[in-house]
Amino acid sequence: FNERPQDYPIPGKTTVYDESETIDLDNVPLNGGYLLKVLCVSLDPYMRGRMKDSKSYVGGFEIGKPLSNFGVGVVLRTEFDNVKVGDHVYYMGMPFQKYVILPNLENARVIKNEENFPWTVYTGVLGMPGLTAYCAWKEYSRAKKGEVAFITTAGGPVGSFVVQLAKADGLKVIASAGSEEKVEFVKNLGADVVFNYKTTNTADVLEKEGPIDVYWDNVGGTTLDAALANAALHSRFIECGMISGYNVDAPPIRNLMNIVGRQITMTGFIIGFIAEKYLSDFYTEVPKLIKNGTIKYKEDVTNGLEYAGHVMEAVQRGTNKGKAVVVVADE
Ligand code: NDP
Repeated sequence: FNERPQDYPIPGKTTVYDESETIDLDNVPLNGGYLLKVLCVSLDPYMRGRMKDSKSYVGGFEIGKPLSNFGVGVVLRTEFDNVKVGDHVYYMGMPFQKYVILPNLENARVIKNEENFPWTVYTGVLGMPGLTAYCAWKEYSRAKKGEVAFITTAGGPVGSFVVQLAKADGLKVIASAGSEEKVEFVKNLGADVVFNYKTTNTADVLEKEGPIDVYWDNVGGTTLDAALANAALHSRFIECGMISGYNVDAPPIRNLMNIVGRQITMTGFIIGFIAEKYLSDFYTEVPKLIKNGTIKYKEDVTNGLEYAGHVMEAVQRGTNKGKAVVVVADE
């Protein structure tokens, strides 16, 4: 991490790729820990918040140090009893570097991967974004068959999973995405009304297809305003993210008073604080649903850590075509 961005992150300026530091893999001291070869790292929208010089629910990136995020690595050497050479470890603070020494399994988990998925899957539908969709939908939607849900950034890893959960619960799903390619993907997931919010007015669609009982907010801004204007009585607003304001200032919300008049329940959440309760169900149920094709997902895989800055920018601008993940190395 080289420099705080003013608006969108710029590869080569906000972040730089540097190969000057090397380690001796056979002899580097492990001090009771284990040495991981990093296989893949996830790029997620919230990382933009960690580039700011302000306090947030998660620690900020330090200038001059590597970025870090969710990732998967394979154990090359170990002095730690609970992992063995060849184990695969999912770690929530994986530094964007080729190798890392970890002292223990704090914030890390050995992955069994009985279904033989590519490791990248553990950064997406079986990782933090998948958990986000699964846990928060179950915790906050209070979904009832026949209700109407509106889901934003529906072509991404969180939104696309939510679309499928809402359909499985028998709701009518209205979904928005920012490209024709994403719109096609979301239609194939079974959403009832899918539109490109860049070419179709969101408020017009919601007026025609709503009112909405459950709003899954990934974008905030004018979209949230349109959802408030078209909210049903006793609707639930799941405030997952507000990416329209991560890089530039979002306009003020005009329809806030509808929260009162329509008796809306609006819940913000951070996945790390609600996941525990659902972890066992998630890892029992979801891998099977993916394996048998019930749950579909889309990845946008980039090879090479040197492109991480480009992928970071793509996620913020919306040019990623699915779950953004960088493959650092093969096995
Ligand atoms: P995606 O991979 O879908 O990437 C983000 C997407 O946001 C872009 O591809 C783009 O899609 C869309 N976007 C970018 N700018 C705008 C804009 N100005 N207006 C509308 N849409 C925009 O991301 P995820 O599925 O990983 O994450 C989705 C949301 O969930 C984010 O807001 C993220 O911060 C949030 N999140 C929250 C968590 C929590 O614990 N609360 C945990 C994980 C994610 P498009 O082409 O459709 O514009």
